[in-house]
Amino acid sequence: MSDERREALRSALTAVRGRVDAAASASGRAGSTVTIIVVTKTFPVSDLRTLYGLGVRDFGENRHQEAKEKVAALADLELRWHFVGQVQSNKAARIAEYAAVVHAVDSLRVVQRLNSGAHRADRAVDCFIQVSLDPPQTRSGRGGAPPAAVPEIADAIVDCGLLRLAGVMGVAPAGGDAAAAYQRLLQSSRELVARHPVAAAVSAGMSGDYETAVKAGATHVRVGSAVLGPRPSLG
Ligand SMILES: *Cc1c(COP(=O)(O)O)cnc(C)c1O
Repeated sequence: MSDERREALRSALTAVRGRVDAAASASGRAGSTVTIIVVTKTFPVSDLRTLYGLGVRDFGENRHQEAKEKVAALADLELRWHFVGQVQSNKAARIAEYAAVVHAVDSLRVVQRLNSGAHRADRAVDCFIQVSLDPPQTRSGRGGAPPAAVPEIADAIVDCGLLRLAGVMGVAPAGGDAAAAYQRLLQSSRELVARHPVAAAVSAGMSGDYETAVKAGATHVRVGSAVLGPRPSLG
């Protein structure tokens, strides 16, 4: 590990933490109510070890193959793995074997498959329901269930012994109004909490908009490039 890389990660992490804390206090909350998940997709295992040394425990990945390899390479550390990408239903059961938290549950089929994986591995998995924040006519392919489908998916998660309903997750439409999108997400969150009071977590905000998300009420931000720098393009 180079000292230079360690110093770059340390200072970026401190800056993000400071901005999250400021955004939280601007909305009357303690910064400690917001978990920063560092999204390490495409970055090498050495960076994850460095981040661990800097105190990071929550790591996000979005592709099963890459996540699986990193989980194996870092099995000596106590980490919380967050699967933040779209869950293909044929991979869901495998993802349930290592993910502590799955952020993009958006169909009953995925719930079913996660549940069988969780049972096979005999471990609990926290689930966020991804809500589409796009207007219905302009589905951008970023995934997510339509808001009207959330209650049914939530009930299915709650009925699975080893899946725990955490709350809602959203990805703001590219180039759109993030503040307005996150207001829609918070509306879905309020409706979900009315039905399932424990499911009060909100996963929202990436490098470009995490302060906006925290001001809207996010409890979990998923930050990659603001900590790690620009990502090598996905192959
Ligand atoms: C990659 C990714 C992030 C982090 O993106 P950055 O812009 O690098 O912060 C957050 N959420 C999801 C779902 C992602 O796929």
